Amino acid sequence: MSLIKKAMMLALFYSGAAHLYSFISKTANKKKVIIIAYHRITSQKKNSIITNSEISTTAEKFQEQAKYLSENYDVISFRDLQDFTRGIKNPKKDCAIITFDDGYKEHYSNAFPILKKHRLCATIFLATEYMEGKKAFWWERVAYSVAKTKKSHLKIKGLNSIKLSDKKKALKKILEKLKSMQENKKIRLISEIESQLQAKAGSLKSISLTWDQAREMCSSRIEIGSHTATHPILTKISLQEAKSDIIKSIKDIEKKTGTRPIAFAYPNGMQKDMSKELDELLKKLGFAFSISSVYGTEKIRKNMFRLKRIGISSEDDIRTFKVKASGITDFPQKIYSLIKK
Ligand SMILES: [Zn+2]
Repeated sequence: MSLIKKAMMLALFYSGAAHLYSFISKTANKKKVIIIAYHRITSQKKNSIITNSEISTTAEKFQEQAKYLSENYDVISFRDLQDFTRGIKNPKKDCAIITFDDGYKEHYSNAFPILKKHRLCATIFLATEYMEGKKAFWWERVAYSVAKTKKSHLKIKGLNSIKLSDKKKALKKILEKLKSMQENKKIRLISEIESQLQAKAGSLKSISLTWDQAREMCSSRIEIGSHTATHPILTKISLQEAKSDIIKSIKDIEKKTGTRPIAFAYPNGMQKDMSKELDELLKKLGFAFSISSVYGTEKIRKNMFRLKRIGISSEDDIRTFKVKASGITDFPQKIYSLIKK
């Protein structure tokens, strides 16, 4: 978060504007749905070997945020949301859905105890091939190599030589480049980076969830959604490849948890990473919801595809969290996107 953005958020908080906005929108007849997006929930602030950009918050801050949500929103699951869209039930107040992406062990060890304590439901979107640490998340492999290397530069085709003195900055650049590539080229380049940097992560087994942990959470109000099997950016592979990857994840989840997922979170989830064809495919495969990483809040509507979320970053404290949850930051976001056009 830039300094200006943070200052703006705090101004919204202290001026009471966020609170007022939240109050006004609560009295509007259409109930708001906020979907909160988390990745990693760390137990301490240590600068781990794992990529910093994926850290959403600490367990301590998550506890505060979960408590705030439980006191101010009806915290629901996607199954509840499905009942609302079908008119089986009606929301009594604004709703919040708590989501976690990818399937980190920390979701079990750090977030789950807090969710249980506040009796909250949540959804974890699993990239099923990475379960049990059978494979290391590709972005974590890159982060590991960058963190551990003794090299001073990395040379990637099509990019100027990247200085590795500022590892955070370098990692961001490398990940951006990788995300823009076709899937098969990306996989090849990751191996190349690992050998060029002479630092290759092992299985990184300790960071993935296990199916036992997923099952235990399922029996305590945690819902499992699909996030594909191998976590490709779906617009970077063919529709047929996307289909088989998604089917694989559905089968894995069904087999291991006994429940078919109804919500799907797009990998990376930016506008360019999603498409109408993919939404149609997801509908055919039985999903009731597709979820993006595009910033914003939602209302209950008929077509609940490419739902926006409110991403939480490690720089958010409870004040900026409240401003984000109020939905008021949708406005500057909308104005900003208009200016950008
Ligand atoms: Zn993901």
